[in-house]
Amino acid sequence: MTGRPAGSATDVGAGHGPRDYEIVIGLEVHAQLLTRSKMFCGCPTAFGAPANTQTCPICQGLPGSLPVVNRRAIEYGMRAALAFNCRVNAGCRFARKHYYYPDMPKNFQISQYEEPLAEDGWLAIVGADGVSRRIGIERLHLEEDVGKLVHEGSLDRAQASLVDFNRAGVPLMETVSRPDLRTPEEAAVYLRAFRAVLVALGVCNGNMEEGSLRCDANISLRPRGTSDLGTKVEIKNMNSFRNVQRALEYEARRQAIALDAGERIIQETRLWDAEAGVTRSMRTKESAHDYRYFPEPDLVPLQIDSGWVDSLRAALPELPRARRARFAADYGLPAYDAEVLTQSAALADYYERAVAEFPHAKTVSNWVMSELLREIPGEDEAAIAGAPVPPGHLAGLLRLVEDGTISGKIAKDVFDKMFRSGEDAETIVRREGLMQVSDTAELARIVAEVIEANARAVDDYRKGKAAAAKALVGQVMKATKGKANPALVNQLLLEKLSRA
Ligand SMILES: [Zn+2]
Repeated sequence: MTGRPAGSATDVGAGHGPRDYEIVIGLEVHAQLLTRSKMFCGCPTAFGAPANTQTCPICQGLPGSLPVVNRRAIEYGMRAALAFNCRVNAGCRFARKHYYYPDMPKNFQISQYEEPLAEDGWLAIVGADGVSRRIGIERLHLEEDVGKLVHEGSLDRAQASLVDFNRAGVPLMETVSRPDLRTPEEAAVYLRAFRAVLVALGVCNGNMEEGSLRCDANISLRPRGTSDLGTKVEIKNMNSFRNVQRALEYEARRQAIALDAGERIIQETRLWDAEAGVTRSMRTKESAHDYRYFPEPDLVPLQIDSGWVDSLRAALPELPRARRARFAADYGLPAYDAEVLTQSAALADYYERAVAEFPHAKTVSNWVMSELLREIPGEDEAAIAGAPVPPGHLAGLLRLVEDGTISGKIAKDVFDKMFRSGEDAETIVRREGLMQVSDTAELARIVAEVIEANARAVDDYRKGKAAAAKALVGQVMKATKGKANPALVNQLLLEKLSRA
């Protein structure tokens, strides 16, 4: 028994239980590249077409067919490699990775092994503490995706399984991080930052639900203060940022409990079951030599011209990291705000358009982070771009607060109404009569009524209980349905209380 509370996995590192462990996490991310045709043939890559309508002898692996490398896929891989600060190798080669799985027609996958496209990069992430840290990227290589099995009914009871080869041969970019991540939360931050770079580059749509972005995690524990790596476990089947974090939290806890009990961790692959909230053993992990990698004989080794690399580097767009730095410098935003607002290009665009119309950077940041992101996930590019409250409407709302037409509190309700209806702030405020009451005579009358009706609070205030004045302000706000100008109410009330 460990005595470990059943809280979050950060408990593991916080010194609870018999031993204090450090969590070591590395992520492997597979990203489908947004090329129009497949990695080694001309078949289209569009998602959602009827099964097996986007195939040809090459991506079905029929005898005698020969693969041809998609130049655009190489270019997209290089763009990502440069954005991740990797060295693009002067030469790279494709290799056959052998394993049997029914959704893979050739019984091998064309991948890269000893000579990947790029190596030795990093991605900077910023934690909630505002501190920036570099997470190493070991390698980046290209390969082809496999098909998809469709089971009739549930997997364990299916009478038949069908295979759809539309996805077979779609270009995939695999990026392997170094084991530099230390908490499940940090892993999720890395993945978000990673996704933001790919989306900004336009090389991947980053859609985890459709499987355009897939993440496997390696996680091990070691006694804090030691440097040897513990036995790692690979986790698969996590199809959202939240699930990546949850799966790692669960797994860190499971391993800590096992280690505390004196058990050995087995090197294996485990599947995340999001519904049950647990990882389950799938198979003991194979080693690289089990795959019998060898150079793909049907493709010549690629030589990458340095001029090509230079021209791609020069054409890189502003990446989230640079945009983050610019947000902090130009708008004077805290590092945390800059990080949140640049998690997707669409969100950063939204913010910049709102600030252009209402130039109070921190106010706009607060509203975007608290109100907009409560309704829409920041990484959902399409939803942010089509938000029912466009940047101009948010700016209009904030102007009404600034000029005293409505109070900040009413403004939050108005935002909700704008979000539900798509209307602008002025329309709602005018129709519903939400204008702040700043009419001194009108407010003085209400203040007098409230003082009249709350003799005890008035008494308390005069006996030195300052808090009693707050209660009276609250009564006035209530009487005006929150529309009274709070500063004016305060002033009128204190005047009246000190006079009588
Ligand atoms: Zn094809």
